Amino acid sequence: MIQSSLLNRQTPTVIDGRKTAARVLSDVKARAIGLKARADVVPGIAVVIVGEDPASKVYVASKARTAIDCGFHSVTYPFVESTTESAILDLIAQLNTDPLIHGILVQLPLPPHVDAGKIIQAISPEKDVDGFNFLNVGRVGTGAIATAFVPCTPKGAMLLLTDFAGKDLSGLHAVVVGRSNIVGKPMANLLLAANATVTIAHSRTADLASLCRSADILVAAVGQPELIRGDWIKPGAVVIDVGINRVERAGNGKALVGDVAFDEASVVAGAITPVPGGVGPMTIAMLMINTLGAAELLCI
Ligand code: NDP
Repeated sequence: MIQSSLLNRQTPTVIDGRKTAARVLSDVKARAIGLKARADVVPGIAVVIVGEDPASKVYVASKARTAIDCGFHSVTYPFVESTTESAILDLIAQLNTDPLIHGILVQLPLPPHVDAGKIIQAISPEKDVDGFNFLNVGRVGTGAIATAFVPCTPKGAMLLLTDFAGKDLSGLHAVVVGRSNIVGKPMANLLLAANATVTIAHSRTADLASLCRSADILVAAVGQPELIRGDWIKPGAVVIDVGINRVERAGNGKALVGDVAFDEASVVAGAITPVPGGVGPMTIAMLMINTLGAAELLCI
């Protein structure tokens, strides 16, 4: 039984997201070569970025680099901060009908004068490789996951989890801390579809520590550095830490930490994802899978 074997592990496993992401990307490259040979189609991705946010620029450059490395056609559209909403909508309309582009991604956040919801919903559902269009959200929410573009971060987190724990999570209690549309809610839906019993927690949840202690699977998507402590973890639980937080370490400069206090949690958990090197690398790998999937759909 997966339930008992999961909770009785003696040595905690550190789940290596870099290794899994590399495996996924190698598969994507091979499938892209196959698609070109079979149908003369090269997967194409367009990334739209507005403004000068340094973190967004780093993410966008990394996505473009990975796409090129996978053999994709990759185009980045950098807009200045003052660009109007209608100029971005015009570009999206053009990309929606561009036969060389199969996936469109608009890097968030957008400047305050641009309605991010309006921009995201303007992307054709068939090219919505971020999985934020209502049609894809609805498919994930109703369990029609095979026909949806699933948001990249929860999709990657789920792959790390199921690689370790198996695809059927029957009988296991999963607690997702965080209810954002980008991570928490889709993650909860994916866990539910895998037969876990799911609780979603958020900033108004009472006694979060006790709730977390009842979790066989604990997913942290909070954005609060090391909020979840070692004594919040059920012994043997699988901990998936989605959080990426930049903190100052006394005398040590800046460091990246998750939403879980890794040093404390890793001696209690059965398995845990590190930060960095856990869920982070999976997000870009899933973007490549979704883009490839969009291109392959054309050729069915
Ligand atoms: P949001 O800020 O959109 O959502 C955070 C959620 O956490 C909210 O639901 C909020 O509750 C809840 N929350 C905040 N504080 C607490 C608290 N003290 N106790 C309980 N719940 C709390 O963040 P995202 O979902 O976009 O991202 C979450 C984390 O994941 C961030 O660290 C982000 O950087 C990281 N991330 C990582 C990615 C990756 O590639 N690995 C990609 C995307 C995000 P409420 O709704 O009540 O406000």
